[in-house]
Amino acid sequence: MAWQQDAHINENCLAYQNVMCMSCLDSCDASAISFNYQHKIARPSINISACTGCGFCQSSCPTHAISITPIAAENATLEHYEHV
Ligand code: SF4
Ligand code: SF4
Repeated sequence: MAWQQDAHINENCLAYQNVMCMSCLDSCDASAISFNYQHKIARPSINISACTGCGFCQSSCPTHAISITPIAAENATLEHYEHV
C-alpha cells in the first residue's frame, strides 16, 4: 500500500510571533521544508510530495507546531470520491 503524508505547520510556529527560527529546516534531510520570505519573518511550509514522514522536524520544533500524519494514498483517493 502506498503512503502519503498529511503535513501541517500551525500558528504556534515562532515565525507567526515574529521570532526567527529555522530549526525544522536544518533537521530535514529530504529538503521538504522551504521558507516564504514574503513575510516580515520568513515562514516555513512543507512540500508534501518530498516529505518522507521521518518526523525529525517535529522533534526539532520548540513549539510543537508541526504535525505529520501518514495517510494511505488509496484511502485518500476513496475519501476524495466519497465527497464528490
Ligand atoms: S517529516 Fe522528515 S521529511 Fe517530512 S518535512 Fe519533517 S524532517 Fe522533512
Ligand atoms: S522549528 Fe517550529 S517554530 Fe521553528 S520555524 Fe520550524 S515550525 Fe516554526
